[in-house]
Amino acid sequence: MISPDTFVFDNSYAAELEGFYVPWQGERAPAPRIVHLNRDLAVELLLDPDVLASEGGAAIFAGSKAPEGASPLVQAYAGHQFGSFSAQLGDGRALLIGELIDCHGVRRDLQLKGSGRTPFSRSGDGKAVLGAVLREYLIGEAMHALGVPTTRALAVVTTGDQIMRQGLEPGAVLTRVAASHLRVGTFQFFAAREEPAKVRQLADYAIRRHFPELADKEDRYLTMFRMVRDRQAETVAQWMSVGFVHGVMNTDNMTISGETLDYGPCAFIDSYDPEATFSSIDHQGRYRYENQPAIAQWNLARFVETLLPLIDPADSARAIEVATDEVKEFQTIYQKLWLERMRAKLGFDHREGEDLDLVNDLLRVMDRQDIDFTVFFRRLADGARGDLGAVRALFNDPTAFNVWLKSWLARLDHEDGSALSRADAMDRVNPVYIPRNHKVQEALDAATNSDLEPFRRLMTVLAQPFDRLKGSDEYEDRAPDGFGPYRTFCGT
Ligand code: AMP
Ligand code: MG
Repeated sequence: MISPDTFVFDNSYAAELEGFYVPWQGERAPAPRIVHLNRDLAVELLLDPDVLASEGGAAIFAGSKAPEGASPLVQAYAGHQFGSFSAQLGDGRALLIGELIDCHGVRRDLQLKGSGRTPFSRSGDGKAVLGAVLREYLIGEAMHALGVPTTRALAVVTTGDQIMRQGLEPGAVLTRVAASHLRVGTFQFFAAREEPAKVRQLADYAIRRHFPELADKEDRYLTMFRMVRDRQAETVAQWMSVGFVHGVMNTDNMTISGETLDYGPCAFIDSYDPEATFSSIDHQGRYRYENQPAIAQWNLARFVETLLPLIDPADSARAIEVATDEVKEFQTIYQKLWLERMRAKLGFDHREGEDLDLVNDLLRVMDRQDIDFTVFFRRLADGARGDLGAVRALFNDPTAFNVWLKSWLARLDHEDGSALSRADAMDRVNPVYIPRNHKVQEALDAATNSDLEPFRRLMTVLAQPFDRLKGSDEYEDRAPDGFGPYRTFCGT
């Protein structure tokens, strides 16, 4: 039974940011039912999974019933979508039910996604469908297991509704857990309305919540910007190192916390292709794989613009100058973090001056050669163990690769420890399993037809992506030829 003390909420957003949200309720779902509960995450949130799974839990996760102590609300935000500014977006189908302090003492938002129309819904129905909700669950968990900063999901429920998308699909609600839902777009909302006092209030809140060590610092707003920039650089470096394409890096989907947010049209690359774009509406490839660092920087520029009056209230020219320099720095910081990741993927612990060239040479050799980005690095580790045949066999014509391989083996010799220990280190950072597009699709299609077994099996391998699991070969392979190019959709 869900008792009044099941959730111990501590709702800072509701208490400290009046005027930044609208108090709201979810829509009543006709027949809420829990499809999947994230038991490990429940425990981390100091919630009892058995209690959550009991009677009453489904209605809470569907948004039909607010738990005791909740102050459900919808957040206002704006955002640049594909480069064009919308002054009013906001939670069109999401509902913040409250904040919990987790077992590490960290404040986490509990937000429902798909719980019905809100004052920010515009022409949308406020709903979500089971396939899309399970997709967000799955990719979030996969990213978490890969070590990428990410929001996660606590529960998936079906509502009992049928929702019109490509056809009729089961309605569902995701319970999303995030360090916060503060976005670049939240700041843009108040900056665009020329309400600098509100931007300051929001910035002070963000500092208290995410960067409390800055609270008394005189240059705290600029320093906060730097910290957000550095976190985003790290997150995007990690995306690139695992071949993740977010697909809709609008400023309303970029967090202040650095967590990856909104798994709509995202996908992982199979063959290495800098231009990989999956979203059906990204015709120009704005959010293509190789463009993600540049877009993160662009978004950060939009963020710092909102902070200019706080950075130097008396001298806007100076504020612009220092902000511009800090935004420019992103490239150097990102490049360093990315190179660290790539070094580790190649088995290097030490830094050497030639490493960047070695990495870039490899990417040139792999470019559009139909080389699977994930399989490649595991086979390369096998190369360090003495089996060079398997990695060579990935190339139709290994001539250029053989030249590179020689340099890599020579470079690996500069490392301490044996080649075997370097190979083991590579296996700890290069996953065996990523959410392969065809496997994700297969799991979601089955779930939509009431068969959750493929979803559960996929979740099992993705939960430990670096360890090869017996009998799970099918999850390592890329899509069969017949699968064709993968297309993803927004707002599903
Ligand atoms: P997204 O592309 O999911 O980041 O959403 C962009 C904006 O559209 C946000 O304001 C969402 O709340 C809103 N939105 C997306 N899908 C829906 C929907 N089905 N109903 C209402 N609003 C939606
Ligand atoms: Mg969004």
